This record gives sequence, C-alpha cells and structure tokens, in this order.
Amino acid sequence: MAEVRTVTLPSGARVPALGQGTWHMGDDPARRAEEVRALRRGLDLGMTLIDTAEMYGSGAAEELVGEAVRGRRDDVFLVSKVLPSHADTRGTVDACHASLRRLGTDRIDLYLLHWRGSVPLRETVEAFERLVSEGSIGSWGVSNLDTDDLAELPDGALPATDQVLYNLTRRGPEYDLIPRCRELAVPVMAYSPVEQGRLLGHRALAAVATAHGKSTAQVALAWVLRHDDVIAIPKASTVAHVEENRAALDLRLTAEDFDALDRAFPPPTRKQPLDVL
Ligand code: NAP
Repeated sequence: MAEVRTVTLPSGARVPALGQGTWHMGDDPARRAEEVRALRRGLDLGMTLIDTAEMYGSGAAEELVGEAVRGRRDDVFLVSKVLPSHADTRGTVDACHASLRRLGTDRIDLYLLHWRGSVPLRETVEAFERLVSEGSIGSWGVSNLDTDDLAELPDGALPATDQVLYNLTRRGPEYDLIPRCRELAVPVMAYSPVEQGRLLGHRALAAVATAHGKSTAQVALAWVLRHDDVIAIPKASTVAHVEENRAALDLRLTAEDFDALDRAFPPPTRKQPLDVL
C-alpha cells in the first residue's frame, strides 16, 4: 500500500489528504469500543488527521477521540471546532480549554470556527491568535464560509483551511470557492465526502465502482481526492469501513470515469450558495 499523500497547509504543516471524521461517534456507549478501534486502525494506516468538534455529542466525540489518541498524541493532527455561539473573545478561549480537557491534550493542531454566527469574524480571529500565542492551538481555520465570508476576514488573516460540504452531489464549491482557496493556497477540507452514505447507492457510481472492482464509497472518495489540495474526512465507525476508505487513495479514476460521473453529477455552471449540513 502506497504512503498516504499529504497536503501542505499555509503554515507548512503537511497533513494526510485522507483524514477521519467523528460526528456521531461517542453517541452510543454500545458502539464506543468499535469506534475507538476504528479510529486507531485509521491512525495505523496513516489517516492521522482526526476531525472533531465541541458540538459533536456535546463533547462526547472529543472524549472518544482523546481515548483513541492516548499514547500516540504526537502522531496525530487534531482538528476541533468552536461553536459560533461561543466564538466571542472570552468564549472561544474557554471553549478551546474545555475541548483540550476532553481531548486529554495540551494542544489542538487546528481549531476552526464551525460556522459563522453573530460574532464578528474579527473577534473570533483575535481569540484564535491569542490561543496560538499561548500554544493551545497550532493554527486556526474556518468552516462553512463561502467566498464572500472569506473576503470579510480581517486583512492579513489567512485561515489554514475552509472545511466545507463537498462531494459528487454537492459540487457548488468547484465554481468559485475551491478556485478562490487555491489562489490563497488554502486547502479545502471536504466534509461528508460520501454524503453521509446517501450517495453510495447511486447507479452511475456503482457502474464505475464495478469496472474497478471497488466499492462506491471508494469511488466517491477517490473523486474528491482527485484534487491535490483537497483533504477528505470521511467518518467511518468500523474497522472494515476505515480499511476500505484508506484503499481509496490507491484508486486512480480514468478520464472516462470522470466523464461518466460528470454526466450523472453535472459540475456547476454558475455560482451556487454554499450548502451546509
Ligand atoms: P460522511 O463521512 O460522508 O458519511 C459517514 C457515513 O458513511 C457513516 O454512516 C459511515 O458509516 C458511512 N461510511 C463511511 N465509510 C463507508 C464505507 N467505506 N462504506 C459504506 N459506508 C461508509 O459524513 P459525515 O460524518 O457527515 O462527514 C464526515 C466528517 O466531516 C464528520 O464526521 C465530521 O467530522 C465532519 N463534518 C463537518 C461538518 C461541518 O459543519 N464542519 C459537517 C458535517 C460533517 P459507519 O459509521 O457505519 O462506518
């Protein structure tokens, strides 16, 4: 199996192009052990970027991530997020410290604003800068910000990423957001890359998957990963799904595959407001 390809963040940090999501992990105590095993298997396979948020399970996902990375924290690039309702100066710092406690670590590598709320972006960025100075976070970024929101970030403030909904059924970002981020050399992080599973029964996807002897999830991920500067963070709560997703990195789609997928999931021809989940 080839090494996991990396994507370079504006800080120069190199992170795996394929990471692991955690939304809804930690919700069901009966599934906890398997979820921890799945995340650890992903780490073993080089999917060392883990995405979580204070919102997920009201902290339960962060606690589960803390358990999964115990003893191997330095091998992991941890991403978490502050809720917009906490994103004022004091609230951001307090929320980060609470996340650190749940994660059982003294550093979040990348801390994101989960989506834009009523707090001015400038205020949240100031709080992020303070967290960088005190060493609580390595860098900061944003999520669910469209191109016009990015333009409202304070002068000189460059996020490490914009984490947005992007998959075959949500191609809007290709029109302007991905190109804009590319101009800024800010990698996009694609969330819900398999559309939370809803995409996986699609006929056109199945045809491509069958031709390669792969699964539809692997084709959907390989399609997102066709960009050099997009990171995908599927959530998989079983070891089998994690192993399958990891193998998507080795799948090379052909020009014919891309054409077939374009016919079934047409690329945007005009601006579409950013979808969110
Ligand atoms: P997703 O990754 O597109 O889909 C997750 C679903 O797909 C789960 O039901 C999972 O099942 C299933 N799955 C994964 N791999 C599979 C495979 N190989 N074969 C079949 N099914 C497979 O959706 P998501 O969880 O919404 O998005 C991923 C991550 O992005 C989240 O977990 C979260 O970290 C982040 N996110 C961020 C935002 C934001 O606003 N910033 C919003 C949504 C999500 P199992 O669990 O059974 O493996």
